Amino acid sequence: MRKENCIFCKIANGEIPSKTLYEDRNFRVILDLGPATKGHALILPKEHAENLYDLPQESASEVMVLAQKMAATFVEKLHCDGLNLMQNNGEVAGQTVRHFHLHLIPRYVDDGQSINLKTGSPTQEELEAIRRTIVE
Ligand code: AMP
Ligand code: ZN
Repeated sequence: MRKENCIFCKIANGEIPSKTLYEDRNFRVILDLGPATKGHALILPKEHAENLYDLPQESASEVMVLAQKMAATFVEKLHCDGLNLMQNNGEVAGQTVRHFHLHLIPRYVDDGQSINLKTGSPTQEELEAIRRTIVE
């Protein structure tokens, strides 16, 4: 199902033009309008799902196969030195468009970008407490 007034539904289904790199029955891959690096692209499912929690399981597996295919294309055509996959869920995680999308961010030596998460140093006991919370 498409969602009324969802810009990525419109782009994915071709109602709004985009710089399309790939399209099939279920997905469209477009260039990001605000690229972090050369070739920064987004995989958009044609069916609306707000985020990873809502994405049908079948689409979730298809999207990673497509990411792998696009990764190979970027290496071949853009000669990138690396690739980041990024996928934000919820405002707190940086999601600004509420239609699932997977960022493909080709990386180049000296591209001036960095991914900086502040890291912690929990004790073994603290890690174990978190592990238990998650698995029990
Ligand atoms: P996120 O912050 O994960 O929700 O990412 C949204 C991304 O969509 C950003 O990188 C934007 O630059 C990009 N974006 C927003 N609107 C458009 C658009 N109309 N066409 C292409 N990319 C877009
Ligand atoms: Zn949508």
